[in-house]
Amino acid sequence: MPLTLHAFTCGIITGPKGHMMVGEEGEITFPVPAYLIEHPKGRVLFDTGLHPALRHQPENRFGARRAAMFKLDFPDGAEVSARLEAIDRDPGKIDLIVASHLHFDHCGGFALVPNATLVVQRREWQAGQEAEAIERHGFFKIDFDLGHKLRLLDGEHDVFGDGSVVCLPTHGHTPGHQSLKLKLDSGDVVLTADCCYFCETLKQRRLPYMVHDREQFLASLDKLEALERGGARLYFGHDPEFWKTVPQAPAVIA
Ligand SMILES: [Zn+2]
Repeated sequence: MPLTLHAFTCGIITGPKGHMMVGEEGEITFPVPAYLIEHPKGRVLFDTGLHPALRHQPENRFGARRAAMFKLDFPDGAEVSARLEAIDRDPGKIDLIVASHLHFDHCGGFALVPNATLVVQRREWQAGQEAEAIERHGFFKIDFDLGHKLRLLDGEHDVFGDGSVVCLPTHGHTPGHQSLKLKLDSGDVVLTADCCYFCETLKQRRLPYMVHDREQFLASLDKLEALERGGARLYFGHDPEFWKTVPQAPAVIA
């Protein structure tokens, strides 16, 4: 059985474009992706989208400031568990969740995938345990600290030991942000997550307004660019134009 990838959009967010790319004005509407990777040794989700509680009174879950900043289009059936069920995958039988980082639009679905082991960079998880860092990075423990088993990483990690699914540290957006490299039959793919919101983030080094570490962020973009030059296809984290070209589940990307 070859490695396969399913891509999902688990809701859509509208928010200030300048927040995501310094110097821009107005608003942008962008998708919230999650991915299912199936390997002979296990099922992996890379990120999990939003928590369903954000549909009603989101200020109760992620505060008034964010509720005013982000408008969510997140209907019933768009949450990660429903997207999995729609292709006959049981959310209770996901083995691993590889978390790019701990922002609400990436780990909100952890609660819907209760039996998975979380695969997170140690420095990201530690930031998620410290009150000051939680505040600074805009984390919400209610999203991620739910008692899942943990596999904490210190850098690059070969998930199944055969080089087909590899966690790549791409720190900078947050302390322990990571991307995921996949060896598909059709070639290498890198799920960049929020190291690369948009194609322009990479091409023009247009960073978001809030970054944890600018130098690390730029070094991570250099790393992704080198992989792209080597033939890998990059999947940008929130690029609406790019996502129009991505075949969504039930389509299989092999
Ligand atoms: Zn994001």
